[in-house]
Amino acid sequence: TRSANCPPDVEQLGSATWTFLHATAAYYPERPTPFQRANMLNLLHSLPVLYPCSHCATHLGEEVKRHPPDVSSRAGLSWWLCERHNEVNERLGKEKFDCTKTDERWRDGPLDGRCD
Ligand code: FAD
Repeated sequence: TRSANCPPDVEQLGSATWTFLHATAAYYPERPTPFQRANMLNLLHSLPVLYPCSHCATHLGEEVKRHPPDVSSRAGLSWWLCERHNEVNERLGKEKFDCTKTDERWRDGPLDGRCD
C-alpha cells in the first residue's frame, strides 16, 4: 500500500483540489467585488494551464470553454463548480452529486450535528 508521504496520484490530487475549490466557492461572497470576481476567474482559468494532470487539465479547459464560470455570486459559483465536478464524475463512471446539497457538504455540515 502507498504511504501517506508518497507524491499524490491523480485521485489524491483530484480530491484535494475539489476540496479546495468547493470550500473556496462555499465561502465566496454573496456579492463579490469586481476585484474578487476577477481573481476567481484567474484562479479558474489558470487550472487548465497549470493543473498537474495533463489530460484532466485538457478536459477541464474544454468544459470551461463550453460553460464559462459564473463568478457573480456564491450560489452561482457553487452551482457552476458542482456541475463541472459532475461532468468529471460522469466521465469516470462515478455517481452524480446532488447540487442542492453543496452547502451542506462544503460549508454547513449535516443537520444532525455529527460534523460540528
Ligand atoms: P472526488 O471526485 O475527488 O470528490 C471528493 C468529494 O467531493 C466526494 O467525496 C463528494 O463528497 C464531493 N463531491 C462529489 N461530486 C461533487 C460535486 N459535483 N459537487 C460537489 N461536491 C462533490 N480524474 C481522472 O481520472 N480523469 C480526469 O480527467 C480527471 N479530471 C479532473 C479534473 C479536475 C479539475 C479535478 C479537480 C480532478 C479531476 N480528476 C480526474 C480526479 C477525479 O475528479 C477525482 O478527484 C478522483 O477520481 C478521486 O475521486 P473521489 O472518489 O475521491 O472523489
